[in-house]
Amino acid sequence: MGTSVDAPAVVAEEVTDNVLGGKKVTVVFVLGGPGSGKGTQCTNIVEHFGFTHLSAGDLLRAEIKSGSENGTMIETMIKEGKIVPSEVTIKLLQEAMIKSENDKFLIDGFPRNEENRAAFENVTKISPAFVLFFDCTEEEMEKRLLGRNQGRVDDNIETIRKRFKVFVESSLPVIEYYSSKDKVKKIDAAKPIPEVFEDVTAIFAPYAPKV
Ligand code: UDP
Ligand code: MG
Repeated sequence: MGTSVDAPAVVAEEVTDNVLGGKKVTVVFVLGGPGSGKGTQCTNIVEHFGFTHLSAGDLLRAEIKSGSENGTMIETMIKEGKIVPSEVTIKLLQEAMIKSENDKFLIDGFPRNEENRAAFENVTKISPAFVLFFDCTEEEMEKRLLGRNQGRVDDNIETIRKRFKVFVESSLPVIEYYSSKDKVKKIDAAKPIPEVFEDVTAIFAPYAPKV
């Protein structure tokens, strides 16, 4: 597609080309409240459908561990259940996608607010193929988070309540945005893991590796 300086001032709705580091990529955003099972199901999707799993939270935790200059700031935000500035998270996601040999990515736990979403699309020119939304009650999510015991600084009842609030106030609008674009595939995530994966499998069938 050629662009010239005197092209008409009509801005196309789709400003995305989904090209990153010279390769065309497929991105699926995996969203849902804390404890809705995003990470668990992403592991299954990787195994069966050849995607690479990028957990924004895991990338941020790795950044803390690496002793980066942003580490202290990120750690404070996570402890308080707040959303880390977009530029930090986007840079980590972008680097991980460029470094990877793969061209199919599950981005888990991002974008968490409308600003995250708009910044990601503007910076990367990538828009998701679709959004997988794990729908679960707070009661069930709270039970899972308190039971999972991964030693995370944010899996205590006080931070969990804050994360629920942030999810409802900031992250649900992102799901509504993609819903208005018909891009959301919603799953009942309160069911047992294998049953949820059956629903996930039906959604990913078109992405199954061809034999
Ligand atoms: N986080 C963030 N931006 C992201 C992803 C995560 O700021 O894009 C921070 C935020 O403080 C969040 C924490 O990392 O509460 C843990 O996120 P993760 O996705 O690992 O856990 P979840 O809350 O989904 O269980
Ligand atoms: Mg997670």
